[in-house]
Amino acid sequence: MASAMIDPFGRSITYLRVSVTDRCDLRCVYCMTEDMTFLPRPALLSLEELDRLCGAFIRLGVTRIRITGGEPLVRRGVATLFRSLGERLVAGPQGGLRELTVTTNGTQLARHAEALHQAGVRRVNVSLDTLDPKKFSAITRGGSLDRVLHAIFVARDAGLAVRINAVALRGVNEDELDALLAWCGGHRFDLCLIETMPMGDTGPMGETGADRTDLYLPLSLVRARLRRRWTLTGSGYSTGGPARYFDVAETGTRIGFITPMTHNFCEGCNRVRLTCTGQLFMCLGRDDSADFRSVLRAGADDAALEAAILAAIARKPKGHDFVIDRRRDAPAVARHMSVTGG
Ligand code: SAM
Ligand code: SF4
Repeated sequence: MASAMIDPFGRSITYLRVSVTDRCDLRCVYCMTEDMTFLPRPALLSLEELDRLCGAFIRLGVTRIRITGGEPLVRRGVATLFRSLGERLVAGPQGGLRELTVTTNGTQLARHAEALHQAGVRRVNVSLDTLDPKKFSAITRGGSLDRVLHAIFVARDAGLAVRINAVALRGVNEDELDALLAWCGGHRFDLCLIETMPMGDTGPMGETGADRTDLYLPLSLVRARLRRRWTLTGSGYSTGGPARYFDVAETGTRIGFITPMTHNFCEGCNRVRLTCTGQLFMCLGRDDSADFRSVLRAGADDAALEAAILAAIARKPKGHDFVIDRRRDAPAVARHMSVTGG
């Protein structure tokens, strides 16, 4: 069944990312300031409101939902949302939700892994930028590498396919990406590298005094370096996201590259993002959004909700205009990735 959500540029919207909280138990230097102010709880959609909105998107043609944040697994009661969304999963060619996934920092994953699998989740993305405990603690401003590594193996043993996400950071983990690929390959995990995006203020980054512009490392360079050791062959594999995948001959696993800064990934964009306050962002790199919290709380019935979604999709822009530019003081987009959901 085709999606009823076709944007003005003919792109069919089938993928919804949902941020269920702006809170997090880590403070990654490229994502947040050390002393973030989080939203007051009443501003957040309830889990029931989130489920109802997701249901409307599914009726209109969304086939894949990724739950993210902030750190999604710190939201109290989030297992209920996974269960209710999991009940909407269908197998086979008819319309409906085909896949439910989650992006997590892994700190709470060990205690959630079994329930996620029971709810129907089969793949999880775990963010892990380094295998060095000291560096991990510095990047996340205090996180424990051991805890995340333990959770990754608990998740795997619970039957979840793990993809490791790593943000490539100049001068921080760039010398380690090779080792990270070897480690992922050894454990049969796919690896996905991400370029830093200029979203939200992140404050000073420890004693280095670096800012995110200094951390920007183009993945074209990383790929060229990796090719000295690994045989990378372009792969047709896609998870429906913006990552471009390569098969790694030596490991039998894949490496993906998400390159919003060096490669325009907007043409094939099939997604929209819902924040934990019910704002729908039609583009990660733009400020325009549609407010669904007020629609829901004004008592909209399902038909009105679906009409509001279609009106928002009609506003989806052609593309973003991220620039990492040293002359600019402000980030290209003022809100943090943790608000829109990375
Ligand atoms: N807390 C979860 C996690 O870290 O996986 C989910 C939310 S986090 C915002 C999602 C992804 O966005 C993570 O892989 C993170 O590394 C990435 N991210 C955060 N800020 C970013 C930025 N400014 N540029 C690029 N990636 C970023
Ligand atoms: Fe938290 Fe994820 Fe942002 Fe790190 S990237 S601060 S784990 S939301």
